[in-house]
Amino acid sequence: MTEAPMPNRRAADHIAASNKPVVESVWRRVWARPDPHLADVGFTGEYLVAGMRLLIAVLLIYVPLGLQRHALLRENLTPILVFIAGALLEALLVYSAVQRHWGRSWIGFASSLVDVSLVSGALAILMLLGQPLAATNSTLIYPFYFLAIGATSLRYDARICLLTGFLAIAQYGAVVYYALTRWNLAAPELTRDFGHFNTADQIGRLVLLLAATGLAVTLVVRAREASVLSMRDRLTGLLNRGVFDVRLEEEADRAARSGGPVAVAMIDVDHFKTFNDTYGHAGGDQALRALAQLLARSFRASDIVTRYGGEEFAVILPGMGADRITERLEAFRRSVEAVRLDVRSAAGKVGFTVSVGAAVWPEDGTDIHAAVAIADARLYRAKQLGRNLVVFRGHDRAPAAPEDPTALA
Ligand code: GH3
Ligand code: MG
Ligand code: MG
Repeated sequence: MTEAPMPNRRAADHIAASNKPVVESVWRRVWARPDPHLADVGFTGEYLVAGMRLLIAVLLIYVPLGLQRHALLRENLTPILVFIAGALLEALLVYSAVQRHWGRSWIGFASSLVDVSLVSGALAILMLLGQPLAATNSTLIYPFYFLAIGATSLRYDARICLLTGFLAIAQYGAVVYYALTRWNLAAPELTRDFGHFNTADQIGRLVLLLAATGLAVTLVVRAREASVLSMRDRLTGLLNRGVFDVRLEEEADRAARSGGPVAVAMIDVDHFKTFNDTYGHAGGDQALRALAQLLARSFRASDIVTRYGGEEFAVILPGMGADRITERLEAFRRSVEAVRLDVRSAAGKVGFTVSVGAAVWPEDGTDIHAAVAIADARLYRAKQLGRNLVVFRGHDRAPAAPEDPTALA
């Protein structure tokens, strides 16, 4: 797969659209759709897993066969051929799925379930060969369940880990149950080569499978949490630039379907270099944090407030039309103006201001990126016009001479 992970609508479920952290229950964290970007990473590894699976399948076939005489092998050719065909078919399925980008949502499920079934299949072959204790006491085939369960964590979908783990437990349980009910496991001809049946040992094996499942689930949940952390800016706690790019595409897609507008606002702190020089970087950081809090409070939960970089912030306002955007941003600009910070300076409490450029797509710009560029140009215009200003339409070709900022308020 060479394509870069495409931003898609599902991402909206995972990147908290609200500007506050979301508290989820344990169950919701486990039984959640995978983070689409993490799932993309998992999907690129599917080739590798498919290759490993083929190798392991060959090994799994060799082990039970190596234990038997050739005559027995010939008599049991059918299940063995079915087993080989299964492994090949799965490899082919994964290959075509990765090539064509289809079945992404279920290919992870299918591959994991087949993996576990291959291990159980190998144990079943031992029983078909008349060696139930070779299956229940197996020290070489049974550990492959752990490979199958461990590989599910590479798919970054905790639901797959959980289902695969429980399938392994159910299938292994069925193997043991079948051996117990079908054979007299104490018979000398059975115990001669593969030892005795031990109930405690078998319970221990099932518990180990459960523990492995728990580990795989935990790993995926943690990866998802780390991915959420990577979407936020450390200083301000706001969503970061990467999220802005993804959400911009999503909102443009959504707007194209619904026909509704999307507004974009670019916000930049005025004379921030001087602010830093005067009050120190700690003072500057304090101002950025205060601004972030104000941003989070000033916009709707459905608006996407991000730190674009440095002292620049970008807000995406889905559904916001040209009629209300100036009013909304003006209210925000005034609330910034009113902030007073205690930056431990001789000057006492100090304030700062912001300049804002805004655009509403589809009226502004041929595509959403052009709209962002227009908002950026308007921000630059606001700086030219004297700062502490919101520029939307009507000032694109304004005279270079500074205007009275209050005239726009
Ligand atoms: P203008 O009004 O034209 O925007 O002037 P400005 O001084 O704000 O613009 P300039 O781009 O020259 O300076 C931006 C400053 O923002 C410089 C940089 O040190 C500061 N800055 C960027 N990120 C941070 C940060 O995380 N913390 C602090 N304290 N300062 C930052
Ligand atoms: Mg700047
Ligand atoms: Mg600035």
